Amino acid sequence: MDIIHEMITEKQITDKISEMAAQINKDYEGKEIHLICVLKGGVFFCCELAKRITVPVTIDFMAVSSYGSGTGSSGRLTVKKDLDELIEGRHCIIVEDIIDTGLTLSLAKKMLLARNPASLNICTLLDKPARRVTKIEALYTGFTIPDKFVAGYGLDYAQKYRNLPYIGEVEFIED
Ligand code: 5GP
Repeated sequence: MDIIHEMITEKQITDKISEMAAQINKDYEGKEIHLICVLKGGVFFCCELAKRITVPVTIDFMAVSSYGSGTGSSGRLTVKKDLDELIEGRHCIIVEDIIDTGLTLSLAKKMLLARNPASLNICTLLDKPARRVTKIEALYTGFTIPDKFVAGYGLDYAQKYRNLPYIGEVEFIED
């Protein structure tokens, strides 16, 4: 069994999501928002965020991963599940669990921008800027965290711990 050290409590997370949603409601007043939830890690965050958004909202899902050169944004994007709907002319917000190197999101953003959305912003629950290899910034960031491997609230370690209501640092225990 691994040990999970609580880093961000459930209350801190939900308070922060309420703040982020309030800002989004202000910024998108009079518009409709199309949320693009990045599977699987972004699901818990996306649901809680969507519940607090008061302007009209639609939600779609995509599953992507990247493998890269290690430097710059010259990696490759694998689309495991594409969006069901077209995004042309829509105000889109990508909802992600964590930005680490930034490679996945910078490639996903490039792919989505080619589909001509009216606007495309990024909303991430966590940001780990220490390991960034590309220049990518989220318009909405929940928590900036140090370079630790975290799990919970949608984030996994070997597909486990997504259901934890808090976010914790994983201490890996060798067998
Ligand atoms: P990036 O392309 O920004 O390096 O990678 C982003 C993806 O890496 C995230 O969507 C997430 O799946 C994974 N990731 C990066 N850091 C962590 C972490 O600390 N914990 C977990 N569970 N996944 C992480």
